[in-house]
Amino acid sequence: MRSVSGILFIISAPSGSGKTTLTNELLKLVPGLEFSISYTTRPPRGSEQHGRDYFFVSEEEFQAMTARGEFLEYACVFGQYYGTAKRFLEDARKTGRDLVLDIDVQGAAQVKKKMPEAVSIFILPPSREVLEFRLRHRSHAEHMDSEEVIRRRLEGARKEIENYRNYDYILVNDRLEPSIALLKAIVAAERLKGSAEDLSAEDAGVLAAAEQCLLPNTGQRAEQILASFATAGRGQEEKVQ
Ligand code: 5GP
Repeated sequence: MRSVSGILFIISAPSGSGKTTLTNELLKLVPGLEFSISYTTRPPRGSEQHGRDYFFVSEEEFQAMTARGEFLEYACVFGQYYGTAKRFLEDARKTGRDLVLDIDVQGAAQVKKKMPEAVSIFILPPSREVLEFRLRHRSHAEHMDSEEVIRRRLEGARKEIENYRNYDYILVNDRLEPSIALLKAIVAAERLKGSAEDLSAEDAGVLAAAEQCLLPNTGQRAEQILASFATAGRGQEEKVQ
């Protein structure tokens, strides 16, 4: 399989969908992929490290970078700023590596506008129930997220999921191993698109697996998942009244 360098992969997902785990596995398993480490004004969480997970900066530093035009995109998410430095894209181009951006729906829209050839992937939890369970499990493990934060993240998830139609691929993260395989298949399929060589049987299998995740083939499932959020939201409003 021959790869074409310089593909920009955008991965978005509601918080708690397993995106970080999937992305880390993808980076470990697939050669030639670079991760763009974002800048953020939010404080580190759990075992996160400056320069590995994020560059943790003050709001003043972030604003100064914005003023200098150093961001490819940036957005305010849950009251904190997050941004992708242009230099990650420039460095990836110089070294001929594909770049992976883990960014929210606002950032993804900005990048797609500037670079329509970027490949966007939206990771979905199988349902609201599963997402809530994962968020509670994580908050328990990290001793930090309050009930209010979980509630806000669930509401944020619903709003993020409404944007699924703007993505090229939808990946429903039911179980880790098959999801990693599908994510790998999407990357391989996009690399194959630029290949002039004849496809092997293995390549054809990869293309078929990735095709399952294309928006027209997964839209119905995504709609059902979105509906699970809408129903739960209505239930809560009724309880409050
Ligand atoms: P968390 O605080 O849970 O790490 O991330 C919160 C959200 O911010 C996630 O949806 C994540 O994808 C998004 N995010 C992380 N880095 C960036 C970035 O550089 N730009 C944008 N627009 N969103 C980001």
